[in-house]
Amino acid sequence: MGREKDVPELPEVETVRRSLAPFITGATIATVEVREPRLRRPLAPDFAMAVTGRTILRVARRGKYLHLHLDDSRVWLVHLGMTGQLVVENLGETLLPHDHILVVLSTGRRLRYNDPRRFGLMALGTENEIDTLTELGVEPLSRAFTGCSLWEKVRRTRRTIKDVLMDQRVVAGIGNIYASELLFRAGVRPGRVAATLSRPLTERIVKAAKTVLREAIRHRGSSISDYRDGEGRRGGFQNRFRVYDREGEPCPGCHTLIRRETRGGRSAFFCPTCQR
Ligand SMILES: [Zn+2]
Repeated sequence: MGREKDVPELPEVETVRRSLAPFITGATIATVEVREPRLRRPLAPDFAMAVTGRTILRVARRGKYLHLHLDDSRVWLVHLGMTGQLVVENLGETLLPHDHILVVLSTGRRLRYNDPRRFGLMALGTENEIDTLTELGVEPLSRAFTGCSLWEKVRRTRRTIKDVLMDQRVVAGIGNIYASELLFRAGVRPGRVAATLSRPLTERIVKAAKTVLREAIRHRGSSISDYRDGEGRRGGFQNRFRVYDREGEPCPGCHTLIRRETRGGRSAFFCPTCQR
């Protein structure tokens, strides 16, 4: 049961972005100490040298990735993997096991990257190189994500709607938690073959996606295992799940017991009455 695989998703990464931005925007990178380069991919040997002396102009997000835009027009890409935490703190805080990368900023603060399982990813490249590396589809909170655009994507697929929504090349940032939650709100079963969805249903799914993601961002994401924001705080959306991780508990709409279905090592949670 891979619960911790399910975070962070878009709301968690967006919360990290928002919490880091005030502390690191405009800061110059004074020193970088790589204590463990073996992340999901080994960190480039010249990484520390390449970012030292650069100024962070802005902190953006695409899907589940953070983009730190540097003043040499390159992007420092960060993916938190399953257990990564990127936290800003005062110098002199005690180091912990799994603190792999320490970045001292000109402001006297420090960015600490901690990642026990080391599935996180860091890379440096031009915007084009980063886009090629990550291959992301549309941002779900952007205007480009519409019922019509989703319907075009699902028309000829044999995949389930949950698999389509979790495909980062189709729509970027949705994983197991928010796919389960948004399909509940839309009244659609996660195992439903996506090509059987009508236009109005894809419309409903897109609306539900935007609502759930915005609500989760408002509650600063879901902390079910390691996820913390950029100041080390837990999120609050885990207390508002309607179906995710609630197998055997009553549906908030109709009191039918929530079911869990596992496909490809991933659990989908749904109400067999409310979702068709
Ligand atoms: Zn129900």
